[in-house]
Amino acid sequence: MTETMTDLNARTSELDRGHVFHSWSAQGSLSLLPIAGGRGTEVWDHAGKTYLDFSSQLVNVNIGHQHPAVVQAIQEQAATLATIGPATANLTRGVAAQRIAARAPEGFDKVFFTNGGADANENAIRMARLHTGRDKVLSTYRSYHGNTGGAIVATGDWRRMPNEYARGHVHFFGPYLYRSEFWATSPEEECERALHHLRRVIEAEGPDTVAAILLESIPGTAGIMIPPPGYLSGVREIADRFGIVLVLDEVMAGFGRAGEWFAFDAHDVTPDLITFAKGVNSGYVPVGGVIINDAIARTFDERVFPGGLTYSGHPLAAASIVASIDAMESEGIVAHAKEIGADVIGPGLAELADKHPVIGEVRGTGVFWALELVADRTTREPLSAALMGKAKAELVGRGVLPFTADNRIHVVPPCVVTADEVAQAMTAYDEVLTILD
Ligand code: PLP
Repeated sequence: MTETMTDLNARTSELDRGHVFHSWSAQGSLSLLPIAGGRGTEVWDHAGKTYLDFSSQLVNVNIGHQHPAVVQAIQEQAATLATIGPATANLTRGVAAQRIAARAPEGFDKVFFTNGGADANENAIRMARLHTGRDKVLSTYRSYHGNTGGAIVATGDWRRMPNEYARGHVHFFGPYLYRSEFWATSPEEECERALHHLRRVIEAEGPDTVAAILLESIPGTAGIMIPPPGYLSGVREIADRFGIVLVLDEVMAGFGRAGEWFAFDAHDVTPDLITFAKGVNSGYVPVGGVIINDAIARTFDERVFPGGLTYSGHPLAAASIVASIDAMESEGIVAHAKEIGADVIGPGLAELADKHPVIGEVRGTGVFWALELVADRTTREPLSAALMGKAKAELVGRGVLPFTADNRIHVVPPCVVTADEVAQAMTAYDEVLTILD
């Protein structure tokens, strides 16, 4: 008897439940959506039921699913040289590094490749420590930097707790006007007070002990909080004053997500190290890395950088990076993300906020938006986990894959999303928010 498409969905679910141990989950009750294919903003299951991917998976599929040029580049590279170790010179790898460095500010020529975003931060921290001879890394409570030994401790939220064996990590509060830690009532006040707080933390810790400030240019998983004007350049000034390396984590915000090649491009600031992953090749092959400014790179001319991975600069990843950046450039995908954010997504979400009291705040840029949902607009009490679960299920039921975190829906489609697709998703958000009001 031949297997029907519906049977294939069932077998996929059964195999998944039986044999795949999933991340960040209690395994017992897991029942995950089977996904078999995709194209652009759409994905579908084995029976052909389609979904609009307004999560971009883990906010990484910036170029959309199955971009033909990227798929072809991976296929061609696989046919030529499917793997080669990092201690070789490889043309595709060199071109990939050149393409990435060309998008970074002047004075960034070298790229250290990793397998993903967490180990990019891990290696940036290592570089900063070796460069400064200092130990401590400062990062914000509301942040996510990855799930390896050091990166998870640098992460600010609860996820660091079971891993808090590593020393040398200190946290501080970044700006978040909607729930200001500083009793601020304007972006200017929030900025000034958040910078004062950071300076005081550094002074209290001892500036000579601080190697790096590690900061997401726009904190992503923690809530897509666009920094107020002047904040990132203020952090830059503080880092300079105390000789601290400024690492901007662009893993989620970079490569088009914020409507720029790098989210910090809109904030008049140049870091010392930039970490990236996700959007650099939309996750078609696992990869990440650190873009290193020339001053820090030169300090390793005569001494060994004690870091490296078997698959650093993997040729399939490199080929996908080159094709992806080239396609983003030739198809104007970064500019499209900026425009559709400003002209369609932002105004659409603002309209929803006018209509639905459950929306406490809308914030974002490009294809990087958050709806912060509240039980009460006056007290700003976050919407309950039970209602957030309901929102998620109702959206999936309407054919929209959402990204939810805490009391927020993150509206994060691929950068190639069309106005029609946004309109379809807005209808689903509208219906679901009506249920929650
Ligand atoms: N940094 C940021 C800002 C992220 O959003 C993430 C993942 O979501 C990471 C680092 C970790 O990246 P990866 O999961 O590829 O290790």
